[in-house]
Amino acid sequence: MFAELGVTKQRFEFKFNPKLQLKLTPVPLTLKKSPRTNAKLGIVDSILNKPSFKMNLENELLNHLSWLDGRDDEMLSLVEGLCNQNSGTYNLQGIEAVRQRLLAEFGPLGGNQHDVPVALQETVNDQGSVVQTPLGPAIHLSKRPDAGHQVILCIHMDTVYGLDHPFQKCRRIDEHHLNGPGVIDAKGGLVVMLYALRCFEASPLAQNLGWQVFINPDEEIGSPGTGDYIEKIASTAELALLFEPSLPSGELVSWRKGTGSFSFVVYGRAAHSGREFAKGRNAIAALSRLMVAIDELNRDPEVTYNVGRISGGGPLNIVPDLAIGRVNIRVRTLAQQALVEQELQQLVDDFNSRWDGIKIETHGHFTSPPKIVCDETERLMKRIEACGNLLGESIKWQGSGGASDGNKFSAAGLPNIDSLGPEGGEIHSSNEFLFIPSLIRKARLVALILLSLAKK
Ligand SMILES: [Zn+2]
Repeated sequence: MFAELGVTKQRFEFKFNPKLQLKLTPVPLTLKKSPRTNAKLGIVDSILNKPSFKMNLENELLNHLSWLDGRDDEMLSLVEGLCNQNSGTYNLQGIEAVRQRLLAEFGPLGGNQHDVPVALQETVNDQGSVVQTPLGPAIHLSKRPDAGHQVILCIHMDTVYGLDHPFQKCRRIDEHHLNGPGVIDAKGGLVVMLYALRCFEASPLAQNLGWQVFINPDEEIGSPGTGDYIEKIASTAELALLFEPSLPSGELVSWRKGTGSFSFVVYGRAAHSGREFAKGRNAIAALSRLMVAIDELNRDPEVTYNVGRISGGGPLNIVPDLAIGRVNIRVRTLAQQALVEQELQQLVDDFNSRWDGIKIETHGHFTSPPKIVCDETERLMKRIEACGNLLGESIKWQGSGGASDGNKFSAAGLPNIDSLGPEGGEIHSSNEFLFIPSLIRKARLVALILLSLAKK
């Protein structure tokens, strides 16, 4: 059904090659759209509420977790290896290096590899022009697309640390803590996902569950190149598990705010500031008024407008004819998102009609709608709590102002939990750290979730 989705015309069989050279053999197209889209609630009910799923997570399932015993060190060394290779979003060579390493690690699990079209990122530069930037390649693997139940596992391989960032290598803080770029955001999550899948595949129960692994190269900039693809694959599964880190206090994330970034390009009219000042139309003055007006929309703590950057102007004896303001907006609900879009439009229309010679163009949109906890997500949360209980863990939930690709799956109608990665803190800073014991603990939890989904 991927052809119908316009994703790719061919599927490829992935064969592990120790030289990291992929051998791609076309195989017949069989991955199909999940029936979820036809009888959405019913099917999700069937996977989340089947009797065995209810509380029948007896010790039998726990026995399958023994595969993970003693794997702590190899998990940690893979995290270090992945983090010591820079993969800032725009370091395409670094992304490719991490991708090859991951293909080598995931390859022995079998399944098929799919071509992923990654779109160019479109941004507005400081001259007000739209520029297109290439992004790195993604990974999409699938196994058992014909199994009765389907799950997507997803996380990103890019980090916020570019090649020019001083934070490039891992450093052991103490026995339990590792400092390094991306140790929890999200290379630790990649390793949790890999080891949970390896454990799962070692069990005969694996035959009952089909899975897809999707790893993108652009999440840290809002997944502009892979957002459409995420929307397309969302219809081929019943639920998704994502491996962003848990919150610093250890809770998993329930709801997430939606986010959108907007650029306002203000055009005025240049003139000599001495001889013909009155002929000029000052773009910086107009932009300043617009930014203050937007800042004044901050009335409800759930809806925030952050004026993040302004640029414009040149020699001081010229009335500036160009200025650009950039704003990041966060919302809790879709209704708030609609209201924000309406208010921004009104404000810009008002400015455009009020001032002769000033023209404002708006670029940008909500790239991640808010992630709402629907009934299906709530059932999935209960399932995860039950799995946690069986492992002696009490799982707690909290909302977050930060968005993830879970928002995009959610917007496409796919229930998901997106913070199943390891614990730690201080992400997006040189102090980012991993709480090492959580690596294997989270792998056990995720493997148990998969086993419980597969149990008939
Ligand atoms: Zn991040």
